Amino acid sequence: MIELPSHEPADYRCPFCTIAGGAESEFTAWRDEHVLVQISLHWNPVNPGKALVIPLAHHENVYALPDELAGRIAHMVRRVAVAIRTGYPCDGVTVRQNNEPAGGQDVWHLHTHVTPRYIGDGKYQGVPVRADDREREHYASRLRERLR
Ligand SMILES: [Zn+2]
Repeated sequence: MIELPSHEPADYRCPFCTIAGGAESEFTAWRDEHVLVQISLHWNPVNPGKALVIPLAHHENVYALPDELAGRIAHMVRRVAVAIRTGYPCDGVTVRQNNEPAGGQDVWHLHTHVTPRYIGDGKYQGVPVRADDREREHYASRLRERLR
């Protein structure tokens, strides 16, 4: 097997391991023994309610992911995409997963972005902002209902 570089600092305090190790929050839309779905802390203002699918186990990127967990994540990503498409007034959904700095990764725990999209939303021209907590709660509750 080819050894690929790690970008995770030795003293890294992983924000997703903190979430995974804590109690379910009002921003959590789903949690089982392998995966959780959290409404993102940051989103582009034109795409509110973006969700992150996060494995509970710490894996830096897709290269290191066990096949079985990759399958569970893909399954949940599909379910979240359908829940967003049917539960939000959006026109489409973008699924994105970043690896290494060159791939746009900035949290060293694998996660997949599932983003509602609107015709002509200009998502990639906009600047992400910190999401409002009440809006995050609102979207988490919407997704929770759809993922039951
Ligand atoms: Zn982690």
